[in-house]
Amino acid sequence: MIRAAVMTEPNAPIEIRAFPPPVLEPCAVLLKTLASEVCGTDVHLWHGRLSGVPYPIIPGHVSVGEVLETGGEVLDMNGRPVEPGDRVTFLDVHETCHRCYYCLVAKASTRCPHRKVYGITYSASEGLLGGWSEQIYLKPGVQVIPMSARVDPELWIAGGCGLPTALHAIDRAEIRLGDRVLIQGAGPVGLNACALANASGAGWVGVIDAVPQRLEAARKMGADQCFTLTASLLSDVRTATGGRGADIVIEASGRPEAVAQGCDMARDHARYVVVGQYTDNGSVEINPHTAINRKHLEIRGCWGSDMSHFWRAMEVIDRFHDRFDWRQVISQRYTLDQINDALADVEARRVVKAVILPNG
Ligand SMILES: [Zn+2]
Ligand SMILES: [Zn+2]
Repeated sequence: MIRAAVMTEPNAPIEIRAFPPPVLEPCAVLLKTLASEVCGTDVHLWHGRLSGVPYPIIPGHVSVGEVLETGGEVLDMNGRPVEPGDRVTFLDVHETCHRCYYCLVAKASTRCPHRKVYGITYSASEGLLGGWSEQIYLKPGVQVIPMSARVDPELWIAGGCGLPTALHAIDRAEIRLGDRVLIQGAGPVGLNACALANASGAGWVGVIDAVPQRLEAARKMGADQCFTLTASLLSDVRTATGGRGADIVIEASGRPEAVAQGCDMARDHARYVVVGQYTDNGSVEINPHTAINRKHLEIRGCWGSDMSHFWRAMEVIDRFHDRFDWRQVISQRYTLDQINDALADVEARRVVKAVILPNG
């Protein structure tokens, strides 16, 4: 039997359950899980703050595994056969249809209504479809990405799902060389955005967070200046950005009030990317005249990630892991039996990144 951690319903302790070994369909892949993570979304899932989640679920969306078995020939993203013993990761988003209006006309495949996500929108009754499990079943058609030889499982999880998410936000931000970039929030998405803004040629990167330990991590990810949530925050940011405000602002905090502040901290004709409001944390008052219209402000939302973000995330962490200290983001490692501690530690922000090692 295969052990997996099951979130039976919101706000209940996670249970370890045993599942029978899966029988592989043609083109499926079975992985022995090498590493997975607890991300902020898992805490939201635990609090029941995401709609349409088919509890009970096996959480864990971004994961790394070693191939145990394939259902006949399966090709990876390079077109090479996937073989037992290979170390791979996979795009947790599956069943994007590439046939609907959003996929084809709007070119917004992360809004495809057919997409499913490992660890979030599959029920435990459908199989080992989450990373908090000794084994992960990759359904036919799941996109398999070979691990770079220089990227070990823990390094990839140190980037975690925050890396492709931040990469998407950085794409949306369209940073120009020399731009002054301000990032709100130094959680996993904000820390990754900090490194990627630097890699994109920003002239200055500022990061805001309430937790000093997170700002320390931001410095190791390339932040030039860090700000805490003080009464003088707005004027401090203005001072650091020539009195004008930032050229680019990226919201990665999850706090609705940060969006109103972000509009104020952006310069006229800045671009503002909102990526941190993944769950509904409520509304906020904004003066549309001063904050948006007169300011000529460009505001862009950013939802999820697709294969292009995932693929390039591997390229980026391979290229830049000597320059930015991703590994420091890992605060703690946990086995399946310690999963409730891991969830509680991420919830309480005692750790930035909890790595799950289902096979010890
Ligand atoms: Zn679609
Ligand atoms: Zn996540």
